[in-house]
Amino acid sequence: MNAQKFEYTAPKTLDEALHLLAAGAKPLAGGMSLIPMMKLRLAAPEHLVDLGKLRDLNYIREAAGALHIGATTTHAELESSPILRQKCPLLAETAAAIGDVQVRNMGTIGGSVAHADPSADYPAALQALEAKLVLKGAKSERTVTAAEFFVDAFTTSLEPNEIIREVIVPVEEAGTGARYQKMPQPASGFAIVGVAARVRKSGGKIAFVRIGVTGLSNRSYRAPAAEKGLEGKAGSAAEIQNAAALVAQGVDANSDLHASAEFRRHLAAVHAARALKAALARTT
Ligand SMILES: Cc1cc2nc3c(=O)[nH]c(=O)nc-3n(C[C@H](O)[C@H](O)[C@H](O)COP(=O)(O)OP(=O)(O)OC[C@H]3O[C@@H](n4cnc5c(N)ncnc54)[C@H](O)[C@@H]3O)c2cc1C
Repeated sequence: MNAQKFEYTAPKTLDEALHLLAAGAKPLAGGMSLIPMMKLRLAAPEHLVDLGKLRDLNYIREAAGALHIGATTTHAELESSPILRQKCPLLAETAAAIGDVQVRNMGTIGGSVAHADPSADYPAALQALEAKLVLKGAKSERTVTAAEFFVDAFTTSLEPNEIIREVIVPVEEAGTGARYQKMPQPASGFAIVGVAARVRKSGGKIAFVRIGVTGLSNRSYRAPAAEKGLEGKAGSAAEIQNAAALVAQGVDANSDLHASAEFRRHLAAVHAARALKAALARTT
């Protein structure tokens, strides 16, 4: 099936793009999700504005203890970025886990998070990293946390005329270990369940732990009960298992043709334990 007819504009500046979006156009980035939806007639925008050609949305910069990532930075650019691999390796590792080479070469971080697929990989890492997203409209700009941004399946706190301008993640403190671990859907690579963990120790005890989960339910989330279960512990195998068992606590798990809710809960605990164990091994 072909997409319905649409107008296409590749603006030269962000202001021009925002002006067109304010008039009702829809942003196009890598097209990896939007174009298939248009071909299936699940989306029928009349006017596409191609953000992918805007140079001022493609960057990874360090400023004030954080990394600022422009929305049209591709998964491949994140995966291979020396500064990201050194200063926020969890996000580079997560980008490398997405789909296949073609998808990673075309797909962008802004497009992925805006699409908010409940099985997308980035949301787990962004929740664990307590990332911020800068949302820009024609006349305003605001910053929201990942927890505020992801609202429901394919639903975010973006207003209709806003775009994601950049994603902000922390420069990891020395001694932080992190890991993204997922059960991929075999054909697409999407996470049936994915868990991101960040851990830091002090005096032999876990002083800092953040866990983000994707795929289990309609929206990604942090898992505070599991985090509290590990704080102050040495991180033994039994302590990790006990904490990981809490990762799906109170969460309404999805059930579909790929995995039942019960199996997803099981996968969440298994992959949380694996992510925590690997993250702890990277603290030294
Ligand atoms: C075969 C295949 C396998 C895949 N496997 C995985 C996987 O394993 N894990 C995973 O996480 N993802 C996977 N994906 C999805 C992939 O990561 C896409 O890159 C991503 O979902 C969409 O990014 P995009 O840049 O292509 O956005 P597009 O498809 O261009 O846009 C997606 C949506 O975001 C909007 N949008 C785009 N940019 C912005 C912006 N800056 N601000 C506001 N709105 C914006 C668009 O209007 C549209 O609604 C896969 C896709 C395919 C086709």
